[in-house]
Amino acid sequence: MADKYLSLVNSPVGAAVASRIGLPRPAVLRRFRPGDPLLPGPVLLGATPGEPTPELTGLVAGTGAEVTELDGPDVRYGALIFDARAVATPGDLAGFQAFFTGRLRRLLPSGRVLVLGLPADGGDVVVDASRQALDGIVRSLAKELRRGATANLLLVQDEASLPSALRFFLSGRSAYVDGQSVRLGTGVAAEPADRDRPLAGKTALVTGAARGIGAAIAGVLARDGAHVVVADLPAAGEALAEVANRLRGTTLHLDVASAEAPQRLLAYLAAHTDGLDILIHNAGITRDKLLANMSPEHWAAVMAVNLESQLRIDAALLGSDQLRDQARVVCLSSTTGLAGNRGQTNYGATKAGVIGLVRSSAAAFAAHGNSTINAIAPGFIDTEMTARMPLATREVARRLSSLQQAGLPIDVAEAVGWLSSPGAGGVNGQVLRVCGQNLVGA
Ligand code: NAD
Repeated sequence: MADKYLSLVNSPVGAAVASRIGLPRPAVLRRFRPGDPLLPGPVLLGATPGEPTPELTGLVAGTGAEVTELDGPDVRYGALIFDARAVATPGDLAGFQAFFTGRLRRLLPSGRVLVLGLPADGGDVVVDASRQALDGIVRSLAKELRRGATANLLLVQDEASLPSALRFFLSGRSAYVDGQSVRLGTGVAAEPADRDRPLAGKTALVTGAARGIGAAIAGVLARDGAHVVVADLPAAGEALAEVANRLRGTTLHLDVASAEAPQRLLAYLAAHTDGLDILIHNAGITRDKLLANMSPEHWAAVMAVNLESQLRIDAALLGSDQLRDQARVVCLSSTTGLAGNRGQTNYGATKAGVIGLVRSSAAAFAAHGNSTINAIAPGFIDTEMTARMPLATREVARRLSSLQQAGLPIDVAEAVGWLSSPGAGGVNGQVLRVCGQNLVGA
Protein backbone atom coordinates (compact mmCIF):
# COMPACT_ATOMS: atom_id res chain seq x y z
CA MET A 1 0.00 0.00 0.00
CA ALA A 2 2.04 2.97 -1.32
CA ASP A 3 2.23 6.06 0.88
CA LYS A 4 0.90 8.64 -1.60
CA TYR A 5 1.00 11.44 0.96
CA LEU A 6 4.75 10.92 1.46
CA SER A 7 5.34 11.17 -2.31
CA LEU A 8 3.13 14.26 -2.53
CA VAL A 9 4.89 16.28 0.20
CA ASN A 10 8.24 15.43 -1.34
CA SER A 11 7.23 16.98 -4.67
CA PRO A 12 8.07 20.70 -5.15
CA VAL A 13 4.46 21.89 -5.11
CA GLY A 14 3.36 19.53 -2.34
CA ALA A 15 6.30 20.53 -0.12
CA ALA A 16 5.44 24.23 -0.47
CA VAL A 17 1.76 23.67 0.33
CA ALA A 18 2.51 21.38 3.31
CA SER A 19 4.98 23.86 4.72
CA ARG A 20 2.57 26.81 4.30
CA ILE A 21 -0.33 25.13 6.10
CA GLY A 22 1.79 23.27 8.65
CA LEU A 23 1.14 19.66 7.54
CA PRO A 24 3.61 16.91 8.50
CA ARG A 25 6.40 16.45 5.95
CA PRO A 26 7.79 12.93 6.26
CA ALA A 27 11.20 12.50 4.61
CA VAL A 28 12.16 9.82 2.11
CA LEU A 29 14.37 7.61 4.30
CA ARG A 30 17.84 6.57 3.16
CA ARG A 31 17.68 2.78 3.22
CA PHE A 32 20.52 0.28 2.74
CA ARG A 33 21.58 -0.45 -0.85
CA PRO A 34 24.56 -2.69 -1.55
CA GLY A 35 27.53 -0.61 -2.68
CA ASP A 36 26.31 2.68 -1.16
CA PRO A 37 28.52 4.36 1.47
CA LEU A 38 27.55 3.51 5.06
CA LEU A 39 26.55 7.13 5.78
CA PRO A 40 25.59 10.21 3.76
CA GLY A 41 28.63 12.09 5.16
CA PRO A 42 31.48 11.98 7.70
CA VAL A 43 31.23 11.24 11.43
CA LEU A 44 32.21 13.64 14.20
CA LEU A 45 32.93 12.10 17.60
CA GLY A 46 32.42 13.77 20.97
CA ALA A 47 32.47 12.69 24.62
CA THR A 48 31.54 13.82 28.11
CA PRO A 49 33.41 14.20 30.35
CA GLY A 50 36.67 14.34 28.42
CA GLU A 51 37.48 13.50 24.81
CA PRO A 52 36.62 10.52 22.57
CA THR A 53 39.13 7.71 23.02
CA PRO A 54 41.41 6.53 20.19
CA GLU A 55 39.86 3.06 20.66
CA LEU A 56 36.38 4.34 19.84
CA THR A 57 37.72 6.39 16.93
CA GLY A 58 39.36 3.20 15.62
CA LEU A 59 36.15 1.16 16.03
CA VAL A 60 34.08 3.74 14.16
CA ALA A 61 36.68 3.98 11.38
CA GLY A 62 36.57 0.15 11.22
CA THR A 63 32.89 0.27 10.21
CA GLY A 64 33.90 1.95 6.95
CA ALA A 65 32.62 5.38 8.06
CA GLU A 66 34.80 8.41 7.43
CA VAL A 67 35.77 9.96 10.79
CA THR A 68 36.44 13.70 10.60
CA GLU A 69 37.82 16.29 12.98
CA LEU A 70 36.65 19.13 10.76
CA ASP A 71 34.27 21.54 12.40
CA GLY A 72 32.75 24.88 11.48
CA PRO A 73 29.58 26.39 10.03
CA ASP A 74 30.07 24.84 6.58
CA VAL A 75 30.84 21.27 7.63
CA ARG A 76 27.95 18.79 7.31
CA TYR A 77 27.87 15.47 9.16
CA GLY A 78 26.48 12.04 8.30
CA ALA A 79 26.57 11.14 12.00
CA LEU A 80 27.35 12.58 15.42
CA ILE A 81 28.58 9.90 17.85
CA PHE A 82 28.78 10.84 21.49
CA ASP A 83 30.52 8.73 24.14
CA ALA A 84 28.82 9.28 27.50
CA ARG A 85 30.06 6.10 29.18
CA ALA A 86 32.07 8.11 31.71
CA VAL A 87 29.04 10.14 32.85
CA ALA A 88 28.90 9.94 36.64
CA THR A 89 27.16 13.14 37.78
CA PRO A 90 24.30 15.31 36.49
CA GLY A 91 26.94 17.99 35.85
CA ASP A 92 28.65 15.71 33.30
CA LEU A 93 25.49 15.83 31.17
CA ALA A 94 26.16 19.46 30.25
CA GLY A 95 28.64 18.02 27.76
CA PHE A 96 25.63 17.09 25.59
CA GLN A 97 24.61 20.70 25.22
CA ALA A 98 28.17 21.78 24.50
CA PHE A 99 28.61 19.15 21.77
CA PHE A 100 25.21 19.04 20.08
CA THR A 101 23.91 22.61 20.19
CA GLY A 102 25.16 24.30 17.06
CA ARG A 103 26.00 21.02 15.31
CA LEU A 104 22.59 19.33 15.06
CA ARG A 105 21.48 21.67 12.30
CA ARG A 106 24.45 20.47 10.27
CA LEU A 107 23.36 16.83 10.36
CA LEU A 108 22.59 15.66 6.82
CA PRO A 109 19.18 14.17 5.87
CA SER A 110 18.89 10.60 7.24
CA GLY A 111 21.89 11.41 9.46
CA ARG A 112 22.52 9.53 12.67
CA VAL A 113 22.96 10.50 16.31
CA LEU A 114 24.40 7.62 18.30
CA VAL A 115 25.02 7.92 22.05
CA LEU A 116 27.11 5.37 23.95
CA GLY A 117 26.31 4.95 27.62
CA LEU A 118 26.45 2.43 30.44
CA PRO A 119 23.38 0.82 31.98
CA ALA A 120 22.32 1.95 35.47
CA ASP A 121 23.41 -1.10 37.50
CA GLY A 122 22.02 -0.58 40.97
CA GLY A 123 25.31 0.82 42.29
CA ASP A 124 25.88 4.42 43.30
CA VAL A 125 22.64 6.44 43.17
CA VAL A 126 24.22 9.56 41.67
CA VAL A 127 25.89 7.52 38.93
CA ASP A 128 22.72 5.56 38.20
CA ALA A 129 20.56 8.69 38.01
CA SER A 130 23.07 10.31 35.65
CA ARG A 131 23.26 7.21 33.43
CA GLN A 132 19.48 6.86 33.28
CA ALA A 133 19.30 10.51 32.19
CA LEU A 134 20.84 9.46 28.87
CA ASP A 135 17.61 7.66 28.03
CA GLY A 136 15.59 10.85 28.38
CA ILE A 137 18.07 12.86 26.36
CA VAL A 138 18.12 10.42 23.44
CA ARG A 139 14.35 9.83 23.34
CA SER A 140 13.71 13.58 23.42
CA LEU A 141 16.37 14.38 20.85
CA ALA A 142 14.93 11.72 18.51
CA LYS A 143 11.63 13.62 18.63
CA GLU A 144 13.40 16.86 17.69
CA LEU A 145 15.32 15.56 14.67
CA ARG A 146 13.81 16.01 11.21
CA ARG A 147 14.53 15.00 7.61
CA GLY A 148 14.82 11.29 8.35
CA ALA A 149 17.59 11.65 10.95
CA THR A 150 17.47 9.31 13.96
CA ALA A 151 18.91 9.14 17.49
CA ASN A 152 19.57 5.92 19.40
CA LEU A 153 21.38 4.85 22.58
CA LEU A 154 23.78 1.91 22.91
CA LEU A 155 24.26 0.71 26.49
CA VAL A 156 27.70 -0.85 26.22
CA GLN A 157 28.12 -3.32 29.07
CA ASP A 158 30.60 -5.23 26.93
CA GLU A 159 32.26 -4.18 23.66
CA ALA A 160 32.01 -7.57 21.90
CA SER A 161 29.00 -6.53 19.82
CA LEU A 162 29.89 -2.84 19.51
CA PRO A 163 31.37 -3.09 15.97
CA SER A 164 28.29 -4.80 14.54
CA ALA A 165 25.94 -2.47 16.47
CA LEU A 166 27.80 0.58 15.13
CA ARG A 167 27.51 -0.72 11.58
CA PHE A 168 23.79 -1.41 11.93
CA PHE A 169 22.84 1.84 13.65
CA LEU A 170 24.96 4.06 11.39
CA SER A 171 23.74 2.47 8.15
CA GLY A 172 20.48 2.70 6.22
CA ARG A 173 19.62 -0.73 7.63
CA SER A 174 18.34 1.03 10.77
CA ALA A 175 16.34 3.66 8.80
CA TYR A 176 13.15 3.08 10.83
CA VAL A 177 14.77 2.46 14.27
CA ASP A 178 14.52 5.71 16.20
CA GLY A 179 14.60 6.80 19.84
CA GLN A 180 15.59 3.32 21.06
CA SER A 181 18.15 1.91 23.46
CA VAL A 182 19.85 -1.46 23.14
CA ARG A 183 22.00 -3.18 25.74
CA LEU A 184 25.18 -4.78 24.42
CA GLY A 185 26.17 -7.48 26.89
CA THR A 186 28.66 -10.30 27.07
CA GLY A 187 28.53 -13.08 24.50
CA VAL A 188 30.48 -14.60 21.68
CA ALA A 189 30.37 -12.08 18.85
CA ALA A 190 32.41 -13.09 15.84
CA GLU A 191 33.16 -10.61 13.07
CA PRO A 192 32.20 -12.28 9.77
CA ALA A 193 34.91 -13.11 7.26
CA ASP A 194 32.81 -11.52 4.50
CA ARG A 195 30.82 -8.48 5.62
CA ASP A 196 28.56 -8.68 2.58
CA ARG A 197 27.59 -12.25 3.41
CA PRO A 198 27.75 -12.50 7.21
CA LEU A 199 25.38 -15.50 7.23
CA ALA A 200 27.26 -17.61 4.68
CA GLY A 201 27.02 -21.30 5.58
CA LYS A 202 24.08 -20.78 7.98
CA THR A 203 20.67 -22.43 7.77
CA ALA A 204 17.73 -20.20 8.66
CA LEU A 205 14.02 -20.91 9.02
CA VAL A 206 11.37 -18.19 8.83
CA THR A 207 7.74 -18.92 9.77
CA GLY A 208 4.92 -17.05 8.01
CA ALA A 209 7.30 -16.34 5.12
CA ALA A 210 4.82 -16.42 2.21
CA ARG A 211 4.28 -12.66 2.27
CA GLY A 212 4.71 -9.40 4.16
CA ILE A 213 7.35 -9.08 6.83
CA GLY A 214 8.21 -12.79 6.77
CA ALA A 215 8.98 -12.74 3.03
CA ALA A 216 11.15 -9.64 3.52
CA ILE A 217 13.02 -11.30 6.41
CA ALA A 218 13.68 -14.37 4.27
CA GLY A 219 14.98 -12.05 1.53
CA VAL A 220 17.45 -10.29 3.83
CA LEU A 221 18.72 -13.54 5.36
CA ALA A 222 19.26 -14.99 1.87
CA ARG A 223 20.94 -11.79 0.66
CA ASP A 224 23.25 -12.03 3.67
CA GLY A 225 24.27 -15.54 2.66
CA ALA A 226 22.01 -17.96 4.58
CA HIS A 227 20.17 -20.93 3.08
CA VAL A 228 16.58 -20.11 4.00
CA VAL A 229 13.75 -22.54 4.69
CA VAL A 230 10.50 -20.63 4.27
CA ALA A 231 7.56 -22.02 6.23
CA ASP A 232 3.88 -21.15 6.04
CA LEU A 233 0.37 -22.64 6.01
CA PRO A 234 -0.34 -25.15 3.23
CA ALA A 235 -2.99 -22.69 1.93
CA ALA A 236 -0.22 -20.16 1.23
CA GLY A 237 1.70 -22.76 -0.79
CA GLU A 238 1.79 -20.91 -4.12
CA ALA A 239 3.07 -17.63 -2.69
CA LEU A 240 5.52 -19.57 -0.54
CA ALA A 241 6.93 -21.41 -3.55
CA GLU A 242 7.47 -18.07 -5.31
CA VAL A 243 9.43 -16.72 -2.33
CA ALA A 244 11.52 -19.88 -2.16
CA ASN A 245 12.26 -19.85 -5.90
CA ARG A 246 13.31 -16.21 -5.79
CA LEU A 247 15.69 -16.85 -2.88
CA ARG A 248 16.84 -20.33 -3.92
CA GLY A 249 15.44 -21.49 -0.62
CA THR A 250 13.30 -24.43 0.44
CA THR A 251 9.61 -24.54 1.33
CA LEU A 252 8.10 -26.18 4.38
CA HIS A 253 4.31 -26.41 4.76
CA LEU A 254 3.81 -26.00 8.48
CA ASP A 255 0.93 -24.73 10.58
CA VAL A 256 2.93 -23.53 13.59
CA ALA A 257 -0.17 -23.74 15.80
CA SER A 258 -0.81 -27.42 15.10
CA ALA A 259 -0.15 -29.93 17.87
CA GLU A 260 2.43 -31.79 15.79
CA ALA A 261 4.33 -28.66 14.58
CA PRO A 262 7.37 -28.98 16.90
CA GLN A 263 7.94 -32.66 16.07
CA ARG A 264 7.39 -32.09 12.33
CA LEU A 265 9.92 -29.29 12.44
CA LEU A 266 12.52 -31.42 14.22
CA ALA A 267 11.96 -34.29 11.79
CA TYR A 268 12.38 -31.91 8.84
CA LEU A 269 15.62 -30.48 10.25
CA ALA A 270 17.01 -33.95 10.93
CA ALA A 271 16.20 -35.16 7.42
CA HIS A 272 17.20 -32.11 5.37
CA THR A 273 19.76 -29.99 7.26
CA ASP A 274 22.85 -30.18 9.46
CA GLY A 275 20.90 -28.34 12.15
CA LEU A 276 19.37 -24.91 12.49
CA ASP A 277 21.40 -21.72 13.01
CA ILE A 278 18.68 -19.09 12.77
CA LEU A 279 14.97 -19.31 13.64
CA ILE A 280 12.60 -16.41 13.03
CA HIS A 281 9.21 -16.72 14.74
CA ASN A 282 7.30 -14.42 12.41
CA ALA A 283 3.94 -16.13 11.79
CA GLY A 284 1.23 -14.08 13.43
CA ILE A 285 -2.46 -13.28 13.13
CA THR A 286 -4.92 -10.68 14.42
CA ARG A 287 -8.55 -11.27 15.41
CA ASP A 288 -9.41 -7.80 16.68
CA LYS A 289 -12.46 -7.25 18.88
CA LEU A 290 -13.13 -5.19 21.98
CA LEU A 291 -12.85 -7.48 24.97
CA ALA A 292 -16.55 -6.84 25.58
CA ASN A 293 -17.30 -8.62 22.27
CA MET A 294 -14.47 -11.18 22.12
CA SER A 295 -15.29 -14.80 21.24
CA PRO A 296 -13.39 -17.71 22.78
CA GLU A 297 -12.38 -18.78 19.24
CA HIS A 298 -10.77 -15.42 18.46
CA TRP A 299 -8.96 -15.45 21.77
CA ALA A 300 -7.65 -18.99 21.36
CA ALA A 301 -6.59 -18.65 17.70
CA VAL A 302 -4.39 -15.63 18.36
CA MET A 303 -2.87 -17.22 21.47
CA ALA A 304 -2.08 -20.45 19.60
CA VAL A 305 -0.36 -18.88 16.58
CA ASN A 306 1.38 -15.87 18.15
CA LEU A 307 2.59 -17.22 21.48
CA GLU A 308 1.96 -20.88 22.26
CA SER A 309 3.59 -22.01 19.01
CA GLN A 310 6.78 -20.14 19.87
CA LEU A 311 6.91 -21.56 23.40
CA ARG A 312 6.44 -25.13 22.17
CA ILE A 313 8.85 -24.92 19.25
CA ASP A 314 11.59 -23.30 21.37
CA ALA A 315 11.22 -25.95 24.07
CA ALA A 316 11.41 -28.74 21.48
CA LEU A 317 14.49 -27.24 19.81
CA LEU A 318 16.34 -26.71 23.08
CA GLY A 319 15.58 -30.29 24.05
CA SER A 320 16.86 -31.66 20.73
CA ASP A 321 20.17 -31.88 18.93
CA GLN A 322 18.86 -29.83 15.99
CA LEU A 323 19.81 -26.36 17.25
CA ARG A 324 23.41 -25.48 16.53
CA ASP A 325 25.74 -23.53 18.84
CA GLN A 326 25.68 -19.73 18.56
CA ALA A 327 22.17 -20.01 17.18
CA ARG A 328 20.02 -16.93 16.80
CA VAL A 329 16.29 -16.83 17.52
CA VAL A 330 14.32 -13.69 16.74
CA CYS A 331 10.65 -13.41 17.73
CA LEU A 332 8.17 -10.95 16.26
CA SER A 333 6.49 -8.97 19.00
CA SER A 334 4.75 -5.62 18.40
CA THR A 335 4.51 -2.17 19.94
CA THR A 336 1.00 -3.34 20.92
CA GLY A 337 2.78 -5.69 23.33
CA LEU A 338 4.46 -2.68 24.93
CA ALA A 339 1.82 0.02 24.79
CA GLY A 340 -1.46 -1.86 24.27
CA ASN A 341 -4.03 -1.10 21.59
CA ARG A 342 -7.81 -0.75 21.63
CA GLY A 343 -9.49 -3.87 20.27
CA GLN A 344 -6.35 -5.98 20.68
CA THR A 345 -6.38 -7.51 24.17
CA ASN A 346 -5.82 -10.96 22.66
CA TYR A 347 -3.05 -9.79 20.28
CA GLY A 348 -1.49 -7.53 22.95
CA ALA A 349 -1.41 -10.45 25.37
CA THR A 350 0.53 -12.57 22.90
CA LYS A 351 2.96 -9.84 21.86
CA ALA A 352 3.72 -8.93 25.50
CA GLY A 353 3.99 -12.65 26.17
CA VAL A 354 6.66 -12.92 23.48
CA ILE A 355 8.68 -10.28 25.35
CA GLY A 356 8.34 -12.30 28.55
CA LEU A 357 9.40 -15.43 26.64
CA VAL A 358 12.51 -13.73 25.28
CA ARG A 359 13.60 -12.24 28.60
CA SER A 360 12.97 -15.47 30.47
CA SER A 361 14.72 -17.80 28.03
CA ALA A 362 17.81 -15.67 27.27
CA ALA A 363 19.86 -17.55 29.87
CA ALA A 364 18.82 -20.97 28.50
CA PHE A 365 19.84 -19.93 24.98
CA ALA A 366 23.14 -18.49 26.23
CA ALA A 367 23.80 -21.84 27.91
CA HIS A 368 23.15 -23.55 24.56
CA GLY A 369 26.54 -22.78 23.00
CA ASN A 370 26.26 -18.99 23.40
CA SER A 371 23.03 -18.73 21.44
CA THR A 372 20.75 -15.70 21.69
CA ILE A 373 17.03 -14.96 21.60
CA ASN A 374 15.65 -11.47 21.02
CA ALA A 375 12.40 -9.81 20.05
CA ILE A 376 11.61 -7.20 17.45
CA ALA A 377 8.63 -4.96 18.15
CA PRO A 378 7.51 -3.40 14.87
CA GLY A 379 5.32 -0.34 14.99
CA PHE A 380 3.09 0.48 12.04
CA ILE A 381 4.42 -1.40 9.00
CA ASP A 382 2.77 -1.27 5.57
CA THR A 383 1.70 -4.88 4.87
CA GLU A 384 -1.47 -6.77 3.96
CA MET A 385 -2.20 -6.96 7.71
CA THR A 386 -2.33 -3.16 8.03
CA ALA A 387 -3.86 -2.63 4.55
CA ARG A 388 -7.05 -4.13 5.99
CA MET A 389 -7.43 -1.14 8.35
CA PRO A 390 -9.98 1.58 7.49
CA LEU A 391 -8.38 4.31 5.34
CA ALA A 392 -8.64 7.17 7.85
CA THR A 393 -7.30 5.07 10.74
CA ARG A 394 -4.40 3.92 8.57
CA GLU A 395 -3.50 7.46 7.46
CA VAL A 396 -3.48 8.74 11.05
CA ALA A 397 -1.48 5.73 12.30
CA ARG A 398 1.13 6.29 9.59
CA ARG A 399 1.87 9.85 10.76
CA LEU A 400 1.97 9.08 14.50
CA SER A 401 5.71 8.60 14.78
CA SER A 402 8.79 10.80 14.92
CA LEU A 403 9.51 9.82 11.29
CA GLN A 404 5.85 10.60 10.37
CA GLN A 405 5.48 7.52 8.15
CA ALA A 406 4.90 3.79 8.27
CA GLY A 407 7.83 1.44 8.15
CA LEU A 408 8.34 -1.05 5.34
CA PRO A 409 8.76 -4.82 5.76
CA ILE A 410 12.43 -4.38 4.79
CA ASP A 411 12.98 -2.18 7.89
CA VAL A 412 11.91 -5.02 10.18
CA ALA A 413 13.88 -7.50 8.08
CA GLU A 414 17.12 -5.50 8.37
CA ALA A 415 16.82 -5.43 12.16
CA VAL A 416 16.20 -9.19 12.18
CA GLY A 417 19.26 -9.58 9.92
CA TRP A 418 21.44 -7.72 12.42
CA LEU A 419 20.19 -9.72 15.43
CA SER A 420 20.75 -12.94 13.43
CA SER A 421 24.33 -12.09 12.56
CA PRO A 422 27.42 -13.56 14.26
CA GLY A 423 28.48 -10.05 15.36
CA ALA A 424 25.35 -9.57 17.49
CA GLY A 425 26.22 -12.34 19.95
CA GLY A 426 26.28 -9.90 22.89
CA VAL A 427 22.65 -8.91 22.34
CA ASN A 428 20.43 -11.35 24.23
CA GLY A 429 16.99 -11.13 25.84
CA GLN A 430 16.42 -7.70 24.32
CA VAL A 431 13.45 -6.05 22.63
CA LEU A 432 14.26 -3.78 19.72
CA ARG A 433 11.47 -1.53 18.48
CA VAL A 434 11.37 -0.86 14.75
CA CYS A 435 8.69 1.79 14.87
CA GLY A 436 10.06 5.18 13.79
CA GLN A 437 9.61 6.09 17.50
CA ASN A 438 5.87 5.79 17.22
CA LEU A 439 3.83 7.85 19.59
CA VAL A 440 1.47 5.12 20.84
CA GLY A 441 2.72 5.47 24.40
CA ALA A 442 4.96 3.40 26.67
P1 NAD B 1 0.78 -10.97 7.26
O1 NAD B 1 -0.62 -11.29 7.69
O2 NAD B 1 0.97 -10.14 6.03
O3 NAD B 1 1.64 -12.32 7.10
C1 NAD B 1 1.61 -13.31 8.10
C2 NAD B 1 2.02 -14.64 7.49
O4 NAD B 1 1.92 -15.64 8.54
C3 NAD B 1 1.09 -15.09 6.35
O5 NAD B 1 1.86 -15.55 5.26
C4 NAD B 1 0.30 -16.23 6.99
O6 NAD B 1 -0.12 -17.22 6.04
C5 NAD B 1 1.30 -16.78 7.99
N1 NAD B 1 0.62 -17.56 9.05
C6 NAD B 1 -0.51 -17.24 9.72
N2 NAD B 1 -0.82 -18.23 10.57
C7 NAD B 1 0.12 -19.20 10.42
C8 NAD B 1 0.32 -20.46 11.02
N3 NAD B 1 -0.54 -20.96 11.93
N4 NAD B 1 1.41 -21.19 10.64
C9 NAD B 1 2.27 -20.72 9.71
N5 NAD B 1 2.12 -19.53 9.11
C10 NAD B 1 1.06 -18.77 9.46
O7 NAD B 1 1.47 -10.27 8.54
P2 NAD B 1 2.72 -9.27 8.64
O8 NAD B 1 2.17 -7.89 8.73
O9 NAD B 1 3.75 -9.60 7.64
O10 NAD B 1 3.22 -9.64 10.12
C11 NAD B 1 4.29 -10.55 10.38
C12 NAD B 1 4.56 -10.54 11.88
O11 NAD B 1 4.87 -9.20 12.31
C13 NAD B 1 3.37 -10.99 12.72
O12 NAD B 1 3.82 -11.74 13.83
C14 NAD B 1 2.76 -9.69 13.19
O13 NAD B 1 2.03 -9.84 14.38
C15 NAD B 1 4.01 -8.84 13.38
N6 NAD B 1 3.76 -7.39 13.33
C16 NAD B 1 3.27 -6.78 12.21
C17 NAD B 1 3.06 -5.40 12.24
C18 NAD B 1 2.55 -4.64 11.04
O14 NAD B 1 2.36 -3.41 11.15
N7 NAD B 1 2.37 -5.25 9.89
C19 NAD B 1 3.29 -4.67 13.39
C20 NAD B 1 3.75 -5.33 14.52
C21 NAD B 1 3.99 -6.69 14.48
